[in-house]
Amino acid sequence: MAKQHLKGRGEAFALKDYTTNGKFIYANASPVQQREDKARKDALALLKSNDLIVYEDLKIQNMVKNHHLAKSISDASWYQFTQWLKYFAKVYGVIVIAVPPHNTTVDCSCCGAKVKKTLSTRTHKCSKCRTVLDRDHNAAKNILAKGFTLLAEYLNSTVGHTESGVKNSRIAGRN
Ligand SMILES: [Zn+2]
Repeated sequence: MAKQHLKGRGEAFALKDYTTNGKFIYANASPVQQREDKARKDALALLKSNDLIVYEDLKIQNMVKNHHLAKSISDASWYQFTQWLKYFAKVYGVIVIAVPPHNTTVDCSCCGAKVKKTLSTRTHKCSKCRTVLDRDHNAAKNILAKGFTLLAEYLNSTVGHTESGVKNSRIAGRN
């Protein structure tokens, strides 16, 4: 991806700027537009290669209060990314689930024990079941498990309503 032709913000977002191999270049895109474009492309790529996507529903309300610019940009990018995920999920019929972020880093994905970590602790080592995993891998397994739980709850409640005489008008409208 050719970013070397980057100009300042305020320039028009030029969709016609393609390289000879068809890849878009950021000739006239501002940094903000580049992030938006990257969020959209990343979300689309993830959607097209997975049947189910579960992500942590990170709080971004504090973004405005955060004076640390890098963190704010990171939060803004994450927000854009999840917005595109939700949009493409509807377009392509892929299931996308946001789960609460509580304890996804602390919990052992194998036995459920609480394993405290500082920000610099990169490896999950459970003294109870002796599981050793990369910190993010452990968190990802917890996030996926939460997603399956929410999906099961949703499916069970939907199927239950549908099979029990369709008392719920909102669900009935779908049939
Ligand atoms: Zn464990």
